[in-house]
Amino acid sequence: MKSYIDSFLEIIYPEKNTCFICETHDEAIGDKYICPDCKKKIKKLLPPLCAKCSKPMDYNSINNLCRECYNNKRYFEMCKAPYAYDGLIKKAIYIYKYYNKPYFYKFFGSCLVNYMKRNNYTNFDYIAAVPLHFSKMRKRGYNQSELLARNISQKLSIPYVDALKRSKKTLKQSEQNKEERRKNLNDAFTVKSPAKIITNKSILLVDDIYTTGATVNECSKTLIRYGAGRVFVITIAR
Ligand SMILES: [Zn+2]
Ligand SMILES: [Zn+2]
Repeated sequence: MKSYIDSFLEIIYPEKNTCFICETHDEAIGDKYICPDCKKKIKKLLPPLCAKCSKPMDYNSINNLCRECYNNKRYFEMCKAPYAYDGLIKKAIYIYKYYNKPYFYKFFGSCLVNYMKRNNYTNFDYIAAVPLHFSKMRKRGYNQSELLARNISQKLSIPYVDALKRSKKTLKQSEQNKEERRKNLNDAFTVKSPAKIITNKSILLVDDIYTTGATVNECSKTLIRYGAGRVFVITIAR
């Protein structure tokens, strides 16, 4: 049976045993979505990692925190990610977002669910997603983070909550420096009513990538301001 997301977006999938990433045919793919060659090329995030944002660390840290987390207020408890934002995963996320391939959520969703189970990172009241501004949503047709969040929600039986809304159009984050990013995101998000549902709840916030953390931090700040208890974050890569 088609899932809610599939029927809603009328997603067309690649043929069975076709690798989502390199599109070669390989009987070994089965229900894994990608071929063994691509799988080998994916770089996992390996410890030691920052206790807050999972940044790989190669120097002596203070309280197990990276410099950014030590010096800046983080409104989320922690951010976890299975992969390094590099090479094949970077390419796959790019394809997912910009090549009209919403079905990639199946592959990334299963990666995230497996990772969350392995790391006991599953104890949340709700799952929410970083929202897209409606103009971007209209252009792309789907919010890649929402598809992931809904998939994780369904697989782990944790309710999805459509909690956040982007209240202003922000400039492209990648074209700005750190200070500009922070300013650009100031009050960029708001909580959709009714906010009562999230009061004192623990929320897992889903995004595709973590770069400076400015976006998930601003979303976490908004959720906390509207009464959420604690916010945790997961991204595909960082
Ligand atoms: Zn492949
Ligand atoms: Zn950190």
